[in-house]
Amino acid sequence: MYFSGFMSNNIVVAIDGYSSCGKSTLAKALAKKLHFIYVDSGAMYRAVALYFLRNNIDSNNHEQIAEALKDIHLNFHSRDYQTHITLNDEEVSEEIRLMPVSEKVSEVSAIREVRKEMVKQQQRMGYSKNIVMDGRDIGTTVFPAANVKIFMTADPKVRAERRYKEIHDKNPEITLEDIFENIAHRDYQDTTREESPLVRAADAIILDNTNLTPEQQLQFALDKVEPFL
Ligand code: C5P
Repeated sequence: MYFSGFMSNNIVVAIDGYSSCGKSTLAKALAKKLHFIYVDSGAMYRAVALYFLRNNIDSNNHEQIAEALKDIHLNFHSRDYQTHITLNDEEVSEEIRLMPVSEKVSEVSAIREVRKEMVKQQQRMGYSKNIVMDGRDIGTTVFPAANVKIFMTADPKVRAERRYKEIHDKNPEITLEDIFENIAHRDYQDTTREESPLVRAADAIILDNTNLTPEQQLQFALDKVEPFL
């Protein structure tokens, strides 16, 4: 069952795109400006990947996966529009950004049962509320009738440099090359998987932010949402 737009008067903004394109930066700024709820759907897949790593869940063992999904309880705690997510009541917001999870997440997010469960939870979060959600399949699968769909892209080198600056202080051992490779790998896996691959929805507006400031991106998005306010 799909809820949004047509069934109630809430506004749904879907922001999809490649890894490390600045989707969450834009989504957070937009949600904050409009007083909408912000949901980082990638954090959910990352938390599931962390659980799989910790519990040695085999991505090919469907019985194990079904059991694991029953045992995984995710919750968002929004504080000033930063993503705070708990996995079975443990705060994992920082751990899910580290390399082991980044290396595992695209494998885990390609699993049909995992996607089915996450999509169900995401649709529930958008039911009757004004929401900005970012991810890979928000405009195609989670909210195909979203009021505004933005598909973000940027030069892969620029993306890697941005992510490097973001995490270098806390993770000085990670090189720019490691990040570039991880981004390229995730883009490849996300666009070629069978289950709702990363693809631009036909009605999504492309935003290439290679040469745009965060303020310019926010203005771009605000202009698109304005007619629905
Ligand atoms: O957005 P972020 O880069 O944190 O997402 C981590 C990973 O989660 C992506 O590389 C992708 O494999 C997966 N993902 C997804 N669908 C979403 C959001 C994220 O498959 N809606």
